[in-house]
Amino acid sequence: MSAPVPGGRPGEAERAAELAAALADQGVHGVILSFVDTAGINRVKTVPVRALPSAVRWGVGMSPVFDMFLADDSIVGSDIQGGPDGDLRHYPDLDGLVALAAQPGWAWAPVDRMTQEGGPHHSCSRTLLRRAQSDAEQAGLTFRAAIEIEFALGRGDVPHPEFVPACLGSAYGMTRVVEQSDFCAAALDALERQGVEVDQIHPEYAAGQYEISVCALDPVAAADRSVLVRQTLRALAGRHGLRISFAPSVVAGGVGNGGHVHLSAWRDGVNLHGTGERRYGMTGEAEAFAAGVLDALPALAAVATPSPSSYLRMQPSHWAGVYAVWGHETREAALRVVTGTAGQPGAANIEVKCADLAANPYLLLSGLITAGRDGIDRGLALPEEITGDPSRFSPEEAERRGIRRLPTTLDDAVAAFAASSLPARAWGEYVPDAVLAVRRGEAARMQGLAADAVAEAYRWVY
Ligand code: GLU
Ligand code: MG
Repeated sequence: MSAPVPGGRPGEAERAAELAAALADQGVHGVILSFVDTAGINRVKTVPVRALPSAVRWGVGMSPVFDMFLADDSIVGSDIQGGPDGDLRHYPDLDGLVALAAQPGWAWAPVDRMTQEGGPHHSCSRTLLRRAQSDAEQAGLTFRAAIEIEFALGRGDVPHPEFVPACLGSAYGMTRVVEQSDFCAAALDALERQGVEVDQIHPEYAAGQYEISVCALDPVAAADRSVLVRQTLRALAGRHGLRISFAPSVVAGGVGNGGHVHLSAWRDGVNLHGTGERRYGMTGEAEAFAAGVLDALPALAAVATPSPSSYLRMQPSHWAGVYAVWGHETREAALRVVTGTAGQPGAANIEVKCADLAANPYLLLSGLITAGRDGIDRGLALPEEITGDPSRFSPEEAERRGIRRLPTTLDDAVAAFAASSLPARAWGEYVPDAVLAVRRGEAARMQGLAADAVAEAYRWVY
């Protein structure tokens, strides 16, 4: 839980040498050094396995301009960043190093992005999340997080960028498990071999759609895992003649892919969400944490639902949680209070349903933690609980009950983000500047395009 040190932390180069030798014995040739950019794209450098100790000591060079990349690889600029100058050092984190079961010959590790002078890069989203975690720890708070992964499997034998579902069976239907039996079993096997504890894999609602959920971890590890699991599934899809989409909207008008975030705050090893006297077992702190998150969701939309494709998904009655309200086990609320089974207080958490997988998971989690802690500091209480589908209310009734939609366009999300003081508190100056520049760049790219064209533009990129 500390930043890399140029030259390596004590004993780290030796550990890297041992790990590199063990990986080479297993037939691993290269190590993928992975980070996620502002647009939510997983970008990498790779090194031969024998260079792992050097990468751990001195990092690997990569430009800071990736903070300003769009999903189509075009580049935007701002007054304070962008452009061809400068270089960073990417340091692999050995605690996250994994031999990839679905990509024989390769291992993978998340990186921390550092300056050449040896300080943290101001926009390293992983460092910022680690900082949010350690700041909270100073105040006695720890967190458990997990990101659900929904995805659509398409046939690999159709022309790009078409999507033809790779299964025909019913939503949640056994037929779909039969149709993609090999893929689903291979996913369980590969993730198990990578040390990923899978909770469930199951067919979802939309055409070709499935979901995988994994166990909760500390937030940095949960974000790392979200990246690793998706790339593992992608590699497997290719091996099974399939194409995989994690895009918020695979086909415009349909139910999309969510990336629901489960988050719980703990103090002294006790889950604050399941051990209190307030509604649904929440402690006062858990309720204030949840209220802080709820309050910040409109401002955080530019991070939680960051893509033009996100707003095709964000439709009422699609279980995407498009209303800035909360409810107990309510699938139409952006914030779902999850209590789990009676007698299992450790399982209680809040689920942020609006989020999707175009989000940079590190930024998303640090934003949620900052918002939740803000709620605790301000002693916020949750408003009235909402049950059922809020879309049944007339506009007047919705207004009376305080039911607001989350931003319905990327432009609205950008406006809410720009008007909020939360981004600066969560991430300082550079990340919010990059988020605004990148979101405006994506919105400009899609200006005037029909929904089908927007879905197609982002279908295969995340
Ligand atoms: N696919 C839905 C979404 O867009 C979620 C379905 C579910 O609740 O699992 O978030
Ligand atoms: Mg789901």
